[in-house]
Amino acid sequence: MRKPFVAGNWKMHGSKAMIAELLTGLTAGWKQADSVDVAVCPPAIYIDYVRRTLGSAPIAVGAQNMSDQPAYGAFTGEISAPMLKEFDCRYVILGHSERRALYGEDDDFIARKVEVALDAKLTPILCVGETLEEREAGITERVIERQLQAVIDRVGGEAFGDIVIAYEPVWAIGTGKTATPEQAQAVHAFIRERIAMLSADAAERMIIQYGGSVKPNNAEALFSQPDIDGGLIGGASLKAEDFLAICNAAAKVKG
Ligand code: PEP
Repeated sequence: MRKPFVAGNWKMHGSKAMIAELLTGLTAGWKQADSVDVAVCPPAIYIDYVRRTLGSAPIAVGAQNMSDQPAYGAFTGEISAPMLKEFDCRYVILGHSERRALYGEDDDFIARKVEVALDAKLTPILCVGETLEEREAGITERVIERQLQAVIDRVGGEAFGDIVIAYEPVWAIGTGKTATPEQAQAVHAFIRERIAMLSADAAERMIIQYGGSVKPNNAEALFSQPDIDGGLIGGASLKAEDFLAICNAAAKVKG
């Protein structure tokens, strides 16, 4: 039985005042930690502040990105996996479509980061997903397969038991358009089957989140699908009430 996992991707949003208010709401309202894992992923500069503000609240912290270099060195502007670990990060989002599209991160570069994260005992939240053109061209599965294969080539299938995958159709991110539960389920099942070809155990344990305009009013229907194990939440993770409603929806249908 997989424990559902909901994570908030704050992207480049936040200030100390806004974060204090948001975390006050989340820590006061989050009561179902036994049935759902929850994490927030702030901009890197706020990670320490968030960790300290959360105190012993059952909410983990993740980073939104990480260097592909394993340790320390002359890599101006980068943050390494050991640095994230030192500040108590449990997760790191890798391969988000914004990093793929806006910062030119390709499949192999992302796969290298996944390997570095795993070596450092950080759990990667590996984002995969197709653009609207790719969906319309009928090549969704081919695109996802390619994105997965780069990681498989580097870390093998067994490692996927320790990787969270976020299926995020690019056309649904920040657009208010959501994949229907059936559309999302079909891709999630494809991903699980692909990993099952390499390791049935890893496929069974692997958490696959859906991301792309998840809101309080669609979360329950999405999370009701058998292969949707939670969500990676952008916009709605910035309002305590909305994020809590989404986490509670996961507890209701999966907890
Ligand atoms: C995201 O960027 O990871 C995301 C899912 O965003 P939104 O929920 O705003 O579509």
